[in-house]
Amino acid sequence: MATYDVAHRSAIVTGAGSGIGRAIALELAANGASVIVADLADAPLTTLLDEIRAAGGTAGKIVGDVSDPDFAVACVADANALAPLRIAVNNAGIGGEQNLIGDYSLDGWRQVIEVNLNAVFYGLKAQLPSMAENGGGSIINMASILGSVGFPTSSAYVTAKHGVVGLTKNAALEYGAKKVRTNAVGPGFIHTPLVDSAMDAATLDFLAAKHALGRLGTPEEVSALVCFLASDAASFISGSYHLVDGGYVAQ
Ligand code: NAP
Repeated sequence: MATYDVAHRSAIVTGAGSGIGRAIALELAANGASVIVADLADAPLTTLLDEIRAAGGTAGKIVGDVSDPDFAVACVADANALAPLRIAVNNAGIGGEQNLIGDYSLDGWRQVIEVNLNAVFYGLKAQLPSMAENGGGSIINMASILGSVGFPTSSAYVTAKHGVVGLTKNAALEYGAKKVRTNAVGPGFIHTPLVDSAMDAATLDFLAAKHALGRLGTPEEVSALVCFLASDAASFISGSYHLVDGGYVAQ
């Protein structure tokens, strides 16, 4: 694991109970950030807190739904109670319904847009002013390769992730003068419960072949990029969209 300077500050990681968010929370804490881990269920967060604390890190947990704007405000308050909030990773997300647009249900569409796009807005709305008041910070929004290309039967997900990339640019423009950097990250297909539980072995093989490196990625390969962007080493990087996709989008 590389080392990054993220000490003397707090960080929020949403969707920290599983997959990519879990890896990010562990890596930020290992590098000295005080981390508020947020998710829908309590049990995975308790396990994660034990792991962070056993390794000598500092963390707190908060259970709630990112599609509740008040939850975003509560995350910011909890983080600032630990140390000045300077890092937020808006990572929670769902795969959602898979269907052709003509068959896509309205409820399915609204759910994916609410969790994968609107919730990022709720997060930013609470985090940006707080970080500006704290003298600056770094926000990383979890997009996807599907923030730049389409994927049949995933119209809501593709739309939400393209929206996250646009929202990221606006946040960077609006708060850059207040020393808040905002970036988006676009992973290729990554081995996490979101992917592994939704696809059979043949589909995973098919997807692996779509990456130039011939395989899916790991949560740790995404967290390395996120922690770099969160750190002071990325001090001139803002408003951009960074792929970590094993060459998927190069085709
Ligand atoms: P994951 O293993 O399913 O983890 C996502 C976590 O977010 C889960 O703990 C989930 O809780 C939580 N969550 C879902 N809805 C939530 C809500 N409304 N409020 C709070 N927490 C919520 O998924 P992942 O693969 O790590 O994905 C993390 C992010 O990376 C997502 O934004 C995803 O779109 C993005 N991404 C993933 C891939 C990939 O291939 N894995 C590729 C590109 C981008 P429950 O388990 O209880 O639902």
